[in-house]
Order: sequence, then C-alpha cells, then structure tokens
Amino acid sequence: MSKNMSFGKITNKTIKEQRESLPVFKLRSSLIKAVQGNQLLIVVGDTGSGKTTQMTQFLAEAGFADNGMIGCTQPRRVAAMSVAKRVAEEVGCRVGQEVGYTIRFEDCTGPETKIKYMTDGMLQREVLLDPDLRRYSVIILDEAHERTIATDVLFGLLKKTLKRRADLKLIVTSATLDAEKFSNYFNQCPIFTIPGRTYPVEILYTKEPESDYLDAALITVMQIHLSEPPGDILLFLTGQEEIDTSCEILYERMKALGPSVPELIILPVYSALPSEMQSKIFEPAPPGCRKVVIATNIAETSITIDQIYYVIDPGFVKQNAFDPKLGMDSLVVTPISQAQAKQRAGRAGRTGPGKCYRLYTEAAFQSEMLPTSIPEIQRQNLSHTILMLKAMGINDLLHFDFMDPPPTNTMLTALEELYALSALDDEGLLTRLGRKMADFPMEPALAKVLIASVDIGCSDEILSIVAMLSVQTVFYRPKEKQNQADQKKAKFHDPHGDHLTLLNVYNAWKNSAFSNPWCFDNFIQARSMKRAKDVRAQLEMIMSRYNHRVVSCGRDTMRVRQALCSGFFRNSARKDPQEGYKTLIEGTPVYMHPSSALFGKPAEHYMHCTTAIEPKWLVDCAPSFFKVGGGKGELSKRRRNERIQPLFNRFGDGDDSWRLSAQKRQGRGGGGGTWG
Ligand code: ADP
Ligand code: MG
Repeated sequence: MSKNMSFGKITNKTIKEQRESLPVFKLRSSLIKAVQGNQLLIVVGDTGSGKTTQMTQFLAEAGFADNGMIGCTQPRRVAAMSVAKRVAEEVGCRVGQEVGYTIRFEDCTGPETKIKYMTDGMLQREVLLDPDLRRYSVIILDEAHERTIATDVLFGLLKKTLKRRADLKLIVTSATLDAEKFSNYFNQCPIFTIPGRTYPVEILYTKEPESDYLDAALITVMQIHLSEPPGDILLFLTGQEEIDTSCEILYERMKALGPSVPELIILPVYSALPSEMQSKIFEPAPPGCRKVVIATNIAETSITIDQIYYVIDPGFVKQNAFDPKLGMDSLVVTPISQAQAKQRAGRAGRTGPGKCYRLYTEAAFQSEMLPTSIPEIQRQNLSHTILMLKAMGINDLLHFDFMDPPPTNTMLTALEELYALSALDDEGLLTRLGRKMADFPMEPALAKVLIASVDIGCSDEILSIVAMLSVQTVFYRPKEKQNQADQKKAKFHDPHGDHLTLLNVYNAWKNSAFSNPWCFDNFIQARSMKRAKDVRAQLEMIMSRYNHRVVSCGRDTMRVRQALCSGFFRNSARKDPQEGYKTLIEGTPVYMHPSSALFGKPAEHYMHCTTAIEPKWLVDCAPSFFKVGGGKGELSKRRRNERIQPLFNRFGDGDDSWRLSAQKRQGRGGGGGTWG
C-alpha cells in the first residue's frame, strides 16, 4: 500500500462491510495480478459487482497510483460525480482530494488526486492536449458496453498511446457479453470475469400492445405498491420532463388514496439531477415504506440502486439521432434493444428473486427489438469528434482504427460542415481557425461563434449566451402558475429571438447581484443560473488562455445575431408562404417552438433557440457555403451549393422572415440539449 495516502484506512464499519460483501472483493488479489501481468485487460461483470467503485481503490492500494493517477471514465456526468462521491466516502476523504472528478465545465480534482473519475469526453480532451497521457498510470474505460462516441474514439487513440507507453495500463470494463469482440479488437487481450451474484427474475409481458405506456407504467407502480410484498420499484422512462411529470402524477394519485395506504417514496433520477437529490436515491426506504425510483436508462448500468425487486420496463429510450442528409440532430424516443431489455430486467434480481413487468408483448420483444443497440458513433453527428481527431494530427479518418467504423456518409457530412465553418481548408486540412475551435469543449458551430464574436465585438454577450445554452432550461413554469410564469418570461423577450432573450435574463440576474429572491420572483431556476455562471467563468478561462479578448457590444446586439450566424448558418430556415418555416439546406418544414419568443402557432416539429437574421449575413459569413465555388472543392460540396444557390437567389435582401435555429429537435425532444 502506498505510504502517503489513506487508501484502505476504513473508518466506517458499515462501509467496510459493504465493500467486502461485493462480488469483486474476493477477486481483489487475482485482479491486481492480472493488471500487473497485462498491459491491456477486459473486465466483465454484472452491474453492481463493484467494478467502478472498487477497482480504482484496489489498484491505488496496490501502489498503482504512486506514479501517476488512476483515471476512470464514465459515459455520463452524473455517474462520474456520484461514483466519485461514493469512493471518496469509502476512502475517507473529501471529493477533490485523493478522489476527484472532472466533467465538462467542472474540475473537482486537486494536486493530491490519485483516483480521478471523469466523463469519457473529458479524457478525449486530455488526449488532445497530451497524447501520451503522462499524468496517468492506469486508465479504466468503464461502461464500455455503452459505446458512446468518446469511448469508441478513445479505444483507437489509447491503443496507440499504449504502444508508446509500455508502463501505462488500460482496463476496459463491460457489463455485457461483448467481451470477445472487445478482446479481439484489443490485440486478443485476456478477459477477467467477475462472477455475478444474481437471482432469477420473472418476466411478465403485456398481452396487447400498450397505447399509452406512461399511464400503463404508473398504474403498474400503484398495483405493485398495493398488492406485492415489500421491495423497491425501478421504472425506466425516457427523459427529465416525462420523469418529473410522472412523479407529480404519482404523488397526486397516492395522496388521493388517503393515509390508510403505506407510504410510497417517489424519487426521480436523470443526468441533470442536482447533486443533493442524487444521494437520496441510494438511501434505503424506512420500514413500512416502499421506494419507487423513476429513472432514465442511466439506471440500466451506470448507477446501481440496491433493494430493487420490481422493474417496470416500457421498452423505450430517448436517443440522439442524426440525419446526415438533413444535417439535423434530434432526440427521439426509440424502442430499446433486446440486450437493454435484459439488462433492465436484471436490475430486479440483485438482492433477491424479482419481477420485471415489460409493457410490451413478447412478440414485440422478439421481432421489433434489435439484438443489441447501434453504437452512438454510427448514429450521431461527428463534426466535433472529427475536429478533435484532425487537431491531433489524424487526417486519414477512413483508416482510423475504429471498432465499428461510422458510416462514410456521416463522416463526409461532418467534413463538409467543418469545411463550411472554415475549420478545414480545400484539402481537408485543419485551418488555424479550426485548431482554435478544437480548444473549446463544445460543438464546432458554437466554438466558431465564440471565436467570431471576438472580432465582431460581442464576446462578452456571446459568453453569457453560450453559458445559458449549456445549462438546463432556466425558465420555471409550474403547472398551477403557468400564466404568471409566462407573463414574467415575456418581460425578457427580445423581438429578435431567444438567444437575446437568454442574454436579457442573464444580465437582469447579474444586475440583481446574482440574487436568489430575484430568480424566485421572476420564475427563473436559480440552480440553472448558478451553473450558467460557473460555465461562463470556465469559458472565460479558456478564452483568456488562448488570448481571445472579451469585448462588449453594449446596445448594438445586432452583432450578437451576426456572431450566431457565423456558426449556425447551416441551421437557417426561411418563412414559408404557406405555413411555418423551411430549412435552407433541404427545405425540411420546421416550426417555431411554443416557448420561443418568436412563436406563432403550434405544430409537430420544432426549432429551439431561434434568432432572426438578415439573409445577406449568410453570404458574408459562409461564402463557400452559400455561393457556387470555383469548382475547386469536392463534389458533395458543389452539389450542396447548387442546391443552396437557387434557394438563396429567390430571397431578396432585407427579408426579415429568416430564422436561425441553434437547436433543432423533433417531436417530444425535451430533457438534454444537443449541447451534450
Ligand atoms: P459496477 O460498476 O460493477 O456496476 P459499482 O462499483 O458501481 O458496481 O457499485 C457497487 C455497489 O456500490 C453497488 O451495490 C451500489 O449500490 C453501491 N453504490 C454505488 N454508488 C453509491 C452511492 N453513491 N451511494 C451508495 N451506494 C453506492
Ligand atoms: Mg460500473
């Protein structure tokens, strides 16, 4: 054990007992030996076996943290935070000391940090700064079965790093049966299996398809609570809005039953959940009470909650989908895969024999669900990823060692977008602007807006807007006071759109000396505002690190709209004479979201965060995109330009019915933004 650290010094008996009861505990020494004997190792074990919380500690106790940190990646920020808190507690330190975490816009580590949890996106960023990862002795790519883009990219990058650094260890963990595939990809490395300790789970299907899965789910919760023996319930829903609403409905229905029924403790779990709520989900229900946890797929593998005996699985998940043809990102509710369904069911069998209520038919499970989910890299916009790879000097993307390569079309679309943003030149090589854009942990279009805002003279304003865009919605709109809330919100509305409205909110809050009562009076979420302020401070640091000036445009907010245009010109839409708007690129009909300051009438497909622009700005900021080039660039670009040009010619200058949307989502899109 290392001398200068407190690992292994267990102060709390129950925590010690808890640690020792985990399946991985018995394998401690063989696991350490396996890591000592192999540079690369795949670790497979059921969720809850202790991979995430224990392996880092075992390795630190065995001295692996003496020359460098043990880094452990998580696909989700909330998992990185909650696991770091738990491990700090087990180790007996504060988060940010020996155990810390780093997520986007939040670094909770210090000079003493030896075990660092982080999102996979943050590690990807660190590889950009130091391809050899010299600060680390061990990297654990945790929850690799989730196959996020960042994890997939790290697979390829770290394989190279390992060749250069013989002393670096890489452990890849998975909760599922992909282990063989992982091992094949990672040079036939050994697979270390942690035998599970699971109980049988009875699977119940519905006889007929459910027309309203939400209602069916809530009825099932009540039925279990009123008729089944003790044991907590886990319900999987798709997103924050849906979860919050369901919690409210369930609360009301329980209240209506009166005091004679046993208490049901209702707990939401999703990525944006504030941290004070996060620890509550792990607290056991008091005797005589039952707990129901309503979660997104975060509770599938990332977070393990003990005492769950009943799982309700409506069979849906909200996924990011990207249409390379339209160049549109959207969050769509899609059926889960069979692997996910099995994983969800397994959550009921960790403490004892359990039951899983599938709110779909067995036929649907067999014939409508894919065996496994499609990795994110094959269904998402890759412009951010490709920009980072280019910034690392990786130009030959077609031969990059992907475990599952993304579709060529998606890569071309990303290259095209980066070219249009002037991040790449005619040869597809990174420009100076492109290299600067890569320094910002956000989608390239937004990074471009930030950089452009310096020269346009409004970086002060854009900083606030970008910060506001990267947090959960700041507007609070409780059901019983919607009118009042809307009236308050209307006071912030800017006639030119939502970005300036967000700026108005931020500035008004700032003028109130960042006051909480001000938020309360104005139906603004104080927590989101605080986070926006933190994000803004982080962004300002990046700006100053790279010598980007912070300049204010004062009242001349037209500059703000011009800066937005320089990044989001591809998302522009034009008012359609018939109804709604049509996107410039493909002519896809889109509509203003009801929450927009520019909202007109309700519809099916919405644009979020919309700002009015002058058409001529489009040509000014993206000449290569909106004018036919000299025939120099690649064919796809020309084809697209030929499509754009006729569209463009038809609209004269000064047509103020143009709209720019920084965020396009479909239908039910709610919870997480496309800003990630
Ligand atoms: P794995 O990574 O193998 O899925 P974990 O290491 O995440 O397993 O979890 C091991 C145990 O630690 C689980 O029983 C889980 O309930 C518990 N645990 C994890 N995080 C917390 C927390 N924040 N508070 C209390 N218990 C936790
Ligand atoms: Mg884990």
